[in-house]
Amino acid sequence: MKVLKFGGTSVGSAKSISTVIDILKTEDRSQGSPVVVLSAMSGVTNLLVEMAENAASGKEFTAHLAELEARHFAVVKELLDVQQQNPVFTRLKLYFNQLEDLLQGVLTLRELTAKTRDLILSYGERCSTLLVSRIAMQYFDGCLFVDATEVVKTDSAHGQAKVNMELTGMLIKDLYLANHDKILFVTGFISSNDAGQVTTLGRGGSDYTAAIFGSVLNASSIEIWTDVNGMMTADPRMVKKAFSLPELTYTEAMELSYFGAKVIYPPTMIPAFLKKIPIVIKNTFDTTFEGTVIRHDCKASNLAIKGISSVNRISIINLEGSGMVGKAGFSGRLFSLLAREQINVILITQSSSEHSITFAVQPDDAEKAKALIEQEFELELAARKLEHPVIEEELSILAIVGENMKQTPGMSGKLFHALGRNGVNVRAIAQGSSEYNISVIISGSDLAKALNAVHDAFFSQLNKTLHAFCLGTGNIGKTLFNQLNQHKGFLEENNGIQVKIAGISNTRKMSFDTDGFDLDTWESTLQAKGEQADLAGFVARMKSMNLPNCVFVDNTASPLPIAFYEEIFKSNISVVTCNKIGNSGKYSQYKAFHDAARLHGVDFFYETNVGAGLPIIRTLKDLMGSGDRLQRIEAILSGTISFIFNNFKGDANFHDVVKLAQEKGYTEPDPRDDLRGTDFMRKMLILARDAGYKMEAEDVQIDNILPQASLDAATVEDFYATLKSENAFFDNLKNEAESGNKVLRYIGKLENGKASISLQMVDAEHPFYTMSGSDNIIAFNTDRYKERPMVVKGPGAGAEVTAAGVFADLINVGAN
Ligand code: ADP
Ligand code: ASP
Ligand code: MG
Repeated sequence: MKVLKFGGTSVGSAKSISTVIDILKTEDRSQGSPVVVLSAMSGVTNLLVEMAENAASGKEFTAHLAELEARHFAVVKELLDVQQQNPVFTRLKLYFNQLEDLLQGVLTLRELTAKTRDLILSYGERCSTLLVSRIAMQYFDGCLFVDATEVVKTDSAHGQAKVNMELTGMLIKDLYLANHDKILFVTGFISSNDAGQVTTLGRGGSDYTAAIFGSVLNASSIEIWTDVNGMMTADPRMVKKAFSLPELTYTEAMELSYFGAKVIYPPTMIPAFLKKIPIVIKNTFDTTFEGTVIRHDCKASNLAIKGISSVNRISIINLEGSGMVGKAGFSGRLFSLLAREQINVILITQSSSEHSITFAVQPDDAEKAKALIEQEFELELAARKLEHPVIEEELSILAIVGENMKQTPGMSGKLFHALGRNGVNVRAIAQGSSEYNISVIISGSDLAKALNAVHDAFFSQLNKTLHAFCLGTGNIGKTLFNQLNQHKGFLEENNGIQVKIAGISNTRKMSFDTDGFDLDTWESTLQAKGEQADLAGFVARMKSMNLPNCVFVDNTASPLPIAFYEEIFKSNISVVTCNKIGNSGKYSQYKAFHDAARLHGVDFFYETNVGAGLPIIRTLKDLMGSGDRLQRIEAILSGTISFIFNNFKGDANFHDVVKLAQEKGYTEPDPRDDLRGTDFMRKMLILARDAGYKMEAEDVQIDNILPQASLDAATVEDFYATLKSENAFFDNLKNEAESGNKVLRYIGKLENGKASISLQMVDAEHPFYTMSGSDNIIAFNTDRYKERPMVVKGPGAGAEVTAAGVFADLINVGAN
């Protein structure tokens, strides 16, 4: 025979109760009739708690009571034949009257004892089970409503009673024998003590009732029917990428549920484990799901961990003092005190010097525990051998669980890397000696981020999700979104990365979406739903959304975002940018950015600061990182100037070439902004700094290529006129070069810590002799590349290649 338990949502509405009936119809009764254990309708236990507590503090409960009645009556009307309805209404009404009397008593006395509370809560399961058993009678012969207070016997620890298995076993067996041909519909969660007073087995305890019946009756399996696809790798409400586990051992299920995986109540495992009865967690709302099987001999799994669970709200108590050192009895005294007073200790960590003990409790227990300790250790406190206990609140526990952890090194490394990189501060750590679980205590506000980040780190067969917040929707920003949109399938398949754009802002509007913008429609969404743009507000929202694997992407050329970089790094968010202004400002600022990123374990990638998408900075860093030494860098890093000198040959005149460059969109509105070499200088400066030189902008020596008249011209038009009038100046340069079979090149150089940019004439031997279009080129001379330099060459400007460079940086963040 089997035991089937249906949880609150499974009996939460007429529709789901019909589904339960359909599931029961498929049960094979030849091996004995099943036992069906039921929870209260979803939300009912919580509502009863609220009503009881309200009554105790003098607040009305009648509206809630009416709501409760209405919910149950609605099901009667919908699912029971008219002639069957009246007896059920009468029986339910009786329950509600009793409940009302109880609540009235609480209201009058302004007192709610644990005993009364249990009695009040018992009506949730009584009503739901009565209801379902009567509906079932319409479909099955022999249905019996069983009030579990008659068979599940416990001590008097109200709220968390301990079961007397011997007596309970006898009573259940007798009941089953007398009714073996009937389907028993049993109230979960509730029980009674020797005096016949109602007790409860702890919140979520219906699962336990099912396990007790299963164990006593030697069930072939215990099925826990709930509202999700079994036990998942994490709570699916918190981690969207959580997936169902086919199998778990009892220990794994125990550890996961102990640390918050609500899908099954931890004590449930014990009776099932002792009799080796498999527990199968199934989904009432997806009967095609085969279920998660919790059993003894699981197949070897290739998952390093089985799951990540969490306890949302806990408090910790820190105890410190010399009086604890070497005192064998200290922790014994401490924890027996807490046990005696029924304070449940969720987790304990002790420093190896024994100088301090930290333990976690339910928030409601913290003050009481503190007071008890102060009482018990009064003498030690007076003698200053112990400091007063300190409570910390608003914390959460996150635990990774799995039997394979024992054999796999590096598990804690991976856990702490994922937490550290996402700026999650770990307050305390505990590793069970069984090594089935590692638990960390973190700030409650970081829990969702931490769960997702750790899930991404351990289940690498899933795609890692990057959350990008993008500033700037100009050419580069737009192109980046297009590229991401086009390549998302490829990225997921080949890089295991999914990029979600969680925030977009331009100078006018900003908008956010935790699930990531649809990149087909981001523009209209921003337009329609965006709020007034505000840079500080954008950064603040990005921080407060507290998403895992977060990247700030600055696709602007504005100085404004730079002011936020440091703060962003400090929030453990990586920065990817094509904006050169940050790195080419004061050296102290450059250093502050790099230090902050390093300190907080995040990335600062800006490959596109030099040569757009060309791998220049990466190459430099790789050379230096692999122990090579830089001797000299020579480079042409201005696409505009490159274009101009590549075309200034033969019959061409300088004026026309500059004009052409402008027409092709290669220049700034005033071409002198390029020809003065400022942009080129910034790139040389960044390279020099990345090569390890503390250099300021003034230290880069720039040779001017324009005659004074051109520099002095008041307008762009005047400037073009000077190019004509000064034609001879440019022609002389060109002729001189050509007569020596050379070409003119505007070249940046970094050598012996000196950076300069100058116009040079190079011959065919020089790697820069043959150039085309607006190509950039860089030659690295190093100890290893000394005969012939390592050269990187190619298009060094334009939205496509720049966006591609930003894209590559983003993927590199994802890889870390
Ligand atoms: P029931 O009322 O059926 O007993 P519960 O609400 O007690 O259901 O437990 C089911 C819920 O447990 C799910 O809806 C899910 O949100 C939550 N849960 C938490 N952790 C996990 C996990 N690791 N796997 C599956 N569900 C989980
Ligand atoms: N109804 C009880 C609760 O909500 C027991 C259960 O659902 O398992 O805690
Ligand atoms: Mg439950």
